[in-house]
Amino acid sequence: MFKSEYLNKVYETTAQRNPNQPEFLQAVRDVLESLEVVVAKDSRFEKYGVIERMVEPERTIAFRVSWVDDNGKVQVNRGFRVQFNSAIGPYKGGLRFHPSVNASVIKFLGFEQTFKNSLTGLPMGGGKGGSDFDPRGRSDGEIMRFCQSFMTELSKHIGADTDVPAGDIGVGAREVGYLFGQYKRLRNEFTGVITGKGISYGGSLIRPEATGFGAVYYADEMLHTFGEEVKGKTFAVSGFGNVAWGTVKKINELGGKVVTISGPDGYIYDADGIATEEKINFMLEMRASGRDKVQDYADKFGVPFYAGQRPWGEKFDVAMPCATQNEVGLEDAKKMVANGVKYYVEVANMPTTDEAVAYFRQNKVVIAPSKAVNAGGVAVSGLEMAQNSMRYSWTSEEVDTKLKQIMKNIYKNSYDAAKKYGLEGDLVAGANIAGFEKVAEAMIAQGIAY
Ligand code: GLU
Repeated sequence: MFKSEYLNKVYETTAQRNPNQPEFLQAVRDVLESLEVVVAKDSRFEKYGVIERMVEPERTIAFRVSWVDDNGKVQVNRGFRVQFNSAIGPYKGGLRFHPSVNASVIKFLGFEQTFKNSLTGLPMGGGKGGSDFDPRGRSDGEIMRFCQSFMTELSKHIGADTDVPAGDIGVGAREVGYLFGQYKRLRNEFTGVITGKGISYGGSLIRPEATGFGAVYYADEMLHTFGEEVKGKTFAVSGFGNVAWGTVKKINELGGKVVTISGPDGYIYDADGIATEEKINFMLEMRASGRDKVQDYADKFGVPFYAGQRPWGEKFDVAMPCATQNEVGLEDAKKMVANGVKYYVEVANMPTTDEAVAYFRQNKVVIAPSKAVNAGGVAVSGLEMAQNSMRYSWTSEEVDTKLKQIMKNIYKNSYDAAKKYGLEGDLVAGANIAGFEKVAEAMIAQGIAY
C-alpha cells in the first residue's frame, strides 16, 4: 500500500489494533501517505519509532454518563476523551455531542487535532472528546443535567495545564457554560480549563467567528496563489451551524457570494446570496431553535429547498463543506468536476471520502485540507488560553489580526513544506508534513517516554 516498508508496517499494525474504526484508519492513511517523502529522507523517524507512537493515543478515557430526563427516566450515554499527543503542549481539542459519536470518530478527530494544533504555531497538544448524547429536542434542563454529569467524570482528567476541551458539533456557548460551571463547582477553581467560554467569564472575542473567518482567510490566501481572490466568486457552503455561519459572514465581507447552505433535511439555494444581515443572523436562530432543519430558511425567505439532497450539483466557483465527516462522496465530486469547480476547501473535519479525494486529485481540483483550513477555531482557543493565563482580554481587532496572521502562516508553512519535498501545490501533503515535523521533533527531543 505504501512505498515505505516502515509505513506499511505501522499501518498494518494500526489496522489490526483498530478493526472497527474506519474513520480513524482513514485519517491515519491520509497522514501516512503524505509522510512517504519525509521518511524516505530522514531515517530518524523510524529509528525513534515516531510514527507508531503518533498513531497510538497517549491515553483513552471512556466513561458512563447517566442522567435523569424531564420525565424522570434514567438515561445512559457514553462519554469519551482521547488524549492523543502532548509533545508540544497540553492536550487541546473540542467535545462533540452527536449520536454518531463513537471511539472511531473521537480518535480520528483527536489524531487530526494533533497536526492541526501544531500548524497553528501555538503550544497545544492534541485531544478530543464527546458523547453519543443527542441534544436534538432536549430541554434546557436536560442539557444542563447531561453536561453536569459528563463533567463530573471528565473533571478528573482535565485541567488548564493538562487538557483543555472546547466545543464542536452539538457543543456551543450554552453547553460550554454548563460544563465550565460544573468544573468550577467541583474544583473550587476558576481557571482556563475550557475554551469557547462566554465573554462575561473569560471567553475570547472572535472565538465564535474564528473557525469560519479563519477558513475564508485561508481560502483567500490560496486563491492569491492562482492570481484570484474571494471577491466576485460564488461559493457553495454546506451545514448551517456555527462554522458555516462564520464562513458565510466572512465571504460576504470579502465580496464573495454564498448560494447554498444545508442541513440533515436537505439544502436551500438562494440565487441572491445569503448576503443580508437578516439572512446571516437567521442561521444563528435556526441553530438556536434546536430543530436542525434548513428548510426553515426556505420558508422564511421564499427560496427553493431540495429535500434529502446535497448542494454539490449546483453551479459555483468554490466548494466549502462545513457540515461533518465524509459528507462529500465520489458522486458529489463528479458533479463538481463536471461543473468546472476548481477549488475545494474543506472546512468540516475530514469531510471528503477517500474516493472523492482521489477523483479531485485526478482532475486537478485544488484541495485545501481541513486540518489547515479550520485551524482558526482552535487557534483562537489558544489565544483564549493565553488571555486567561494573563488574566487579561484583547479587543476584537487584536484577536482578529492575530487570527489572520496565523492563517497566513499556516498557508505559507504548508505551501513551503510541500515545495521542500518536491510536491509544490499539494496543500494536503504540505499541511500534514508541516504539522508532523514540529510534533516529531518535540517527541524525539523528549525521549521515549510514552
Ligand atoms: N472543535 C474545534 C476543532 O475541530 C475546535 C477545538 C478547540 O477550540 O479546542 O478544531
